[in-house]
Amino acid sequence: MKIVNIIEKTIPFGSSISNSYISFNQMTGSIVAIVTDVIKDGKPVIGYGFNSIGRYAPSSLLRDRMIPRLLNSDSKDILNEDGSNIDPFKVYSILTSNEKPGGHGDRAHAIGAIDMAVWDTVSKIEGLPLWKLLADKYNDGKYDEKVYTYAAGGYYYPGDNIEMLKDEMKSYIERGFTDVKMKIGGAPLAQDLKRLEAVIDVVGDPSRIAVDANGRFDLEEALSYAKALNSYNIKWYEEPVDPLDFRLHAVVAENFNGSIATGENLFSLQDIRNLIRHGGLRSDRDYIQMDCPLSYGLVEYMKVIEMLNDHGWSARRCIPHGGHQMCLNMAAGLQLGGNECYPDVFKPFGGFADNIPVVDGYITLHDTPGIGFELKQNLYNVMKEVK
Ligand code: MG
Repeated sequence: MKIVNIIEKTIPFGSSISNSYISFNQMTGSIVAIVTDVIKDGKPVIGYGFNSIGRYAPSSLLRDRMIPRLLNSDSKDILNEDGSNIDPFKVYSILTSNEKPGGHGDRAHAIGAIDMAVWDTVSKIEGLPLWKLLADKYNDGKYDEKVYTYAAGGYYYPGDNIEMLKDEMKSYIERGFTDVKMKIGGAPLAQDLKRLEAVIDVVGDPSRIAVDANGRFDLEEALSYAKALNSYNIKWYEEPVDPLDFRLHAVVAENFNGSIATGENLFSLQDIRNLIRHGGLRSDRDYIQMDCPLSYGLVEYMKVIEMLNDHGWSARRCIPHGGHQMCLNMAAGLQLGGNECYPDVFKPFGGFADNIPVVDGYITLHDTPGIGFELKQNLYNVMKEVK
């Protein structure tokens, strides 16, 4: 086989929401299409990827550096033994060559977007859904038939309208979710607790509600919230402090009885290793939310799982950020702890197959070769335009 072309297109998210830290007004994403000369059902196989959600499109990194690096490499350096398919591990080596260690910024998203397109291509050529390919090749054939998910939302409405927040949460429950996540840190503590109480009114059980501070708090604020949240038995307390301040995480963990979740803004194996070594997190209750396409892709993610195992952490403690189909396939095929979902925001990237509903907080698997983008019409319509 041969890679005929790799194309990048930048698209806007057009989302008017904000969390406690940023507005998503100007947010963009990169879609990558890998066009091959392999013909299936009378058409060339094309694999698609994107750089997840929450960071900007790494367009020039892709166009000027990563895509040429791949297109200019010798086919034996990117294909498997018999030349019938792409080898994602070889592609990872090519893309990360001539890059210094450390400083894992936007290049991690550029490589992650290509990596997603590579896995879509590889599983389409194999004729398997990605989750099945991952289970067969990397997880002794084991997979989960359904994946835990939760509805992430609970942003701040104009005037901090609590009725609108309750209506949003009600609609998630009506759509089959059992667990929800809401933002905190964009209002004073007393107001955030009122918001939390309102969501408890709707959901019923605080252990089904996660709260997300988006890394906003300093030590004092993080501890005030920890103290207040200790009495609620919530699902988890997400990104209480700056994602790279590991010592501060450790202090928060000492003062919070429940689960802490973090890692969506850590983009490398080394960053997660530092979090595990120095962040004081607890393998029996805390969650790692590293998002594969923001973080050099699935090849890097598999190294993270191995590192976590070496430190006594189960892959079940991983619930990736991003609410997209790539991490959903990984969660099933590598038996992670679940996967985020954005039912209403970050379209068209957020959400899963149109024809597979969430039932009792779980989502079942697709049976399409690849990641399953073809089953998600709003996203596939945009992808088709790229190539
Ligand atoms: Mg978050």
